[in-house]
Amino acid sequence: MTTAEQEVVSLASELIAIDTSSTGDPTVLGTERAAAEYVAAKLAEVGYETTYVESGARGRGNVVARLPGADPSRGALLVHGHLDVVPADPAEWSVHPFSGEVKDGYVWGRGAVDMKGMVAMALAVARQFKRDGVVPPRDLVFAFVADEEAGGFYGARWLVDHRPELFEGVTEAISEVGGFSVTFDGGTRAYLIETAEKGVMWLRLKANGSAGHGSMLHTDNAVAKLAAAVTRLGSHRFPLILTDPVRQFLEGVAELTGIPFDENDPEAAVARLGNLSRMIGATLRDTANVTMFEAGYKANVVPSTARATVDARILPGREKAFEAELAEILGPGIESDWDSLPPVQTSFDGRLVDAMALAIGAEDPGARILPYMLSAGTDAKSFERLGIRHFGFAPLRLPPELDFTALFHGVDERVPVAALEFGTRVLDRFLRSC
Ligand SMILES: [Zn+2]
Repeated sequence: MTTAEQEVVSLASELIAIDTSSTGDPTVLGTERAAAEYVAAKLAEVGYETTYVESGARGRGNVVARLPGADPSRGALLVHGHLDVVPADPAEWSVHPFSGEVKDGYVWGRGAVDMKGMVAMALAVARQFKRDGVVPPRDLVFAFVADEEAGGFYGARWLVDHRPELFEGVTEAISEVGGFSVTFDGGTRAYLIETAEKGVMWLRLKANGSAGHGSMLHTDNAVAKLAAAVTRLGSHRFPLILTDPVRQFLEGVAELTGIPFDENDPEAAVARLGNLSRMIGATLRDTANVTMFEAGYKANVVPSTARATVDARILPGREKAFEAELAEILGPGIESDWDSLPPVQTSFDGRLVDAMALAIGAEDPGARILPYMLSAGTDAKSFERLGIRHFGFAPLRLPPELDFTALFHGVDERVPVAALEFGTRVLDRFLRSC
């Protein structure tokens, strides 16, 4: 009989081959249905009862299944993963991004790390448990959802608003962007568990001015006004704030590597983290990156409006202060509104964290686990509204030289075959003892 470890690679590869690109355009037909049906069929094949929910718009498929545990008085554990991926341009890739090709020890394709690899691991373990009649210590709820890459409006967010009963009794959850290994200079390895994530604020800015002929004097030019405002914002440094997860992470790294960590100068410690410093550095302060700018239609016409979009990421507890600081930087005459998702944070302790440490330790003796804050956001933000405590725990043991964080939404996204097999073994142990 096929084991979870044996089938995880083909599951990942087949999931990648189902193109579930999401552009974020709500008028376009959803692409997740085929992947959701694939997952539902794989679960049904081994005896799960699945609930298929198409949320709000056509084609935005979600699948939920529950495996009853030994102790119904304990809260359930949610294992969730998103089925959508960001688009990929085949011209830029060395393999077709939707081939799911397995070569050179990697599974290649869009979604390999974000996050069909984890979906495949969860699916493989769920199937194995059913085949073997495993009764986990508590209920496990498996949810494979749509639309994470565009905010979860047709996925997690929709399910939380319209089908909360599917998550009845769930107290804790695991999902993406945590559980992967990093190897420090000197060879010590740690697995980063996501215990917090920054809030998201997608800002729309608009400036109005006087329209007119481009040859004349203009003191009230909307384009110039908005360009100056976003330039101020782009060069502004928000205050450095050392939050608990970041402090615990840097203290842990100091212990493992001997690199001293000075509380008064965390940036010095972050600068020595190599590839990781891009992401960890972004969790020391709020950030605001201008991503879109739109104005005008002809060389000799001054337009009456200009618009810009800013991707801002806010530390836990900073929402109000950020808004005030933002208003001051933008100054008068700039209109702003936004979509936002709150930061989330939990503590790095308890039985579930112990189970993670034990499962990792059993497969990689001597390795440590450390908490960290994700600079981006995930579906955890939606599930948090049901009072669910969230951890990023999609275990992968990675080769030291792999620039893992660059693979998210990157060209030639791929995941090592051995890492998927390792992760499946860890997840199996973890879910048996959670
Ligand atoms: Zn993701």
